[in-house]
Amino acid sequence: MVILDGKKISNQIKDEIAAEVKEMKSNGEKVPHLAAVLVGEDGASLTYVGSKVRACERIGFESTLVKLPDTTTEDELLAKIADLNADDDIDGFIVQLPLPKHIDEQKVLLAVDPDKDVDGFHPANFGKMALEMQTFIPATPFGIMELLKRYEVETSGKHAVVIGRSHIVGRPISILLSTKDKVGNATVTLTHSRTKDLEAFTKDADIIISALGVPNFLKADMVKDGVVVVDVGITRVPDETAKRGYRIVGDVDFENVSKKASYITPVPGGVGPMTIAMLLKNTLLARQRGMAKKA
Ligand code: NAD
Repeated sequence: MVILDGKKISNQIKDEIAAEVKEMKSNGEKVPHLAAVLVGEDGASLTYVGSKVRACERIGFESTLVKLPDTTTEDELLAKIADLNADDDIDGFIVQLPLPKHIDEQKVLLAVDPDKDVDGFHPANFGKMALEMQTFIPATPFGIMELLKRYEVETSGKHAVVIGRSHIVGRPISILLSTKDKVGNATVTLTHSRTKDLEAFTKDADIIISALGVPNFLKADMVKDGVVVVDVGITRVPDETAKRGYRIVGDVDFENVSKKASYITPVPGGVGPMTIAMLLKNTLLARQRGMAKKA
């Protein structure tokens, strides 16, 4: 069994990006600049945005954190997005989700300039992804694809079963695994909460991508020997012995499933760190594509 070590691979990717930034700097070019918009005080969102901003600083990007109170109106947020769209210094930006209930998430995502949409959530970018055109791929599925690529996991002709159909993980990874790309050409089954007899699918799967957010959902008796397992789930489970009062648990019963798996991601240290690395990668791509457009 091989551990798909997202921490190690994400560090490699960050080193590669840092080297490119260094070269940009030595050529006198502007370095990539990522902005993150955070509305409100949600604890998990604060942690996520904080780690994205810190990651930018570590690899030499410029970063801007736009922190807005949870009383911000939809119009105020849309005006901020218009500012970021028009700001030539910002190469890419993200609006951290979830947004407060009084703001229409779809309206906000539609307002982001697709050329600066480094989260890849704009319908124009999502459509391009489905049509295998150049785009920004959402960071989590992009990270999963990169992890499979760097470990040379064979996907062609394999049966991949995705659990969960969210717009940010399940749906896009199901599309990516079926593309004609090198890491692709899989026969994909997208399962969800209304799927009948999920076990019948997981037992037949060569590759399982689990993205539902239910701790220890995928058990050893639900998978076959040699399966490749990618655990996207992140659930905070209260734990008094932990420093923060909780620990992070994935969707997969790692201890037992790993005994049958050929490759498996740990939680933490699997998909999570890859997500941040690929957001940085998308920001670098935004910078490079922006420069190419101006040239
Ligand atoms: P979500 O929470 O929006 O939706 C969950 C999905 O799981 C739904 O499509 C639902 O149909 C499906 N589902 C629920 N119960 C099911 C069941 N019993 N059987 C089959 N399917 C079922 O999904 P999300 O936003 O993709 O998040 C999923 C998990 O991934 C969460 O734990 C989240 O924290 C985590 N996540 C991790 C990263 C990362 O970087 N590692 C990124 C995004 C999300």
